[in-house]
Amino acid sequence: MSAENQESIIKEYTESPEANPVMESLERPKVAALDEILGKPFKVLDDGFIRVIDYMGSDESIVQAARVSYGKGTKKVHEDRGLIRYLMRHHHTTPFEMCEIKFHVRVPMDCWRQWIRHRMANVNEYSTRYSVAIDSAQTTSEQEWRIQASGNRQGSAGFAADAEGKTLTEKERYLQSLAREIYDERLKMGIAREQARKDLPLSTYTEAYWKVDLHNLLHFLYLRMDAHAQYEIRRYAEIMGQEIVAKWCPAVWEAFMDYRVNSNSFTRLEMEVLTAMTQGDKEKAIALGKSFNWLSDAGEPKKNRERAEFEDKLEGLGLKAPW
Ligand SMILES: Cc1cc2nc3c(=O)[nH]c(=O)nc-3n(C[C@H](O)[C@H](O)[C@H](O)COP(=O)(O)OP(=O)(O)OC[C@H]3O[C@@H](n4cnc5c(N)ncnc54)[C@H](O)[C@@H]3O)c2cc1C
Repeated sequence: MSAENQESIIKEYTESPEANPVMESLERPKVAALDEILGKPFKVLDDGFIRVIDYMGSDESIVQAARVSYGKGTKKVHEDRGLIRYLMRHHHTTPFEMCEIKFHVRVPMDCWRQWIRHRMANVNEYSTRYSVAIDSAQTTSEQEWRIQASGNRQGSAGFAADAEGKTLTEKERYLQSLAREIYDERLKMGIAREQARKDLPLSTYTEAYWKVDLHNLLHFLYLRMDAHAQYEIRRYAEIMGQEIVAKWCPAVWEAFMDYRVNSNSFTRLEMEVLTAMTQGDKEKAIALGKSFNWLSDAGEPKKNRERAEFEDKLEGLGLKAPW
């Protein structure tokens, strides 16, 4: 293409930007509610925090991306909300990837170990090879020692008695200060930081920059705000969701709560039993339960996780299991 030709094409598009959406002048999407809290640390646990360093996009960016095929900008707010809700309901996920957010977090290492399993994010963590480990460890108050759950191997149920809690907290204080003392001693003796750190407890706080797109952030929040997630990481997820995402993309947050967090789905097996229940056919429901190995030949509930999950869903709907 000659230089003259190229110039005339650029001129044409510049003079009539609608002729080519690439040339339209755009303003960077800004969310006032998020700008207000940019850099502000939200305290989590005893010495952790989450703060937003930067972000890209907003509710409107999702809508804009979803409508790109029309080459049109955003429509009215209520239509935007409707489109976001449609996208969320139908698992159209890529428009949500158009938004990104970068956090600075301070997290105990055991909690960070769970966090870092979420691979669809970009991470830079404080290096305890390069720098002296952060002089802070997560502490547990006397009332906060949780008892191992009997039914759920990964969970806790209830709290230790006061007297036990007092002893546990005292011993924790002793252990943490001894570990730190030995670490500092090693450093003073000239031991390399990469080796001196090896006996620091998992309660030691670490810091990281964590950048993630909104789709993957919602996935993280869905898993980590859930009651099955460990309390400590759940606190981070709850604050991230309620204090940050809800302000950043309010329509997305509303749809996420409606269609993910506070919704339920039923498997093919559950649907068959439910159908029998709504038809008042208790015998069929029980026969199905037996055929799924949820019930013994005598119709008694067996130890079966899928059956228990179904019963929980029924309870959520105010229904009793037919067996
Ligand atoms: C309550 C709870 C208990 C857990 N218990 C354990 C445990 O006992 N042991 C244990 O090891 N882990 C455990 N985990 C971690 C869990 O198995 C996941 O590794 C973690 O939640 C990250 O989820 P993810 O892989 O979906 O997320 P991300 O890594 O953020 O990935 C998001 C999504 O991207 C896609 N994706 C990412 N990488 C790939 C890939 N390489 N190939 C294909 N698709 C990909 C997947 O669709 C994935 O769901 C637990 C998690 C929770 C919430």
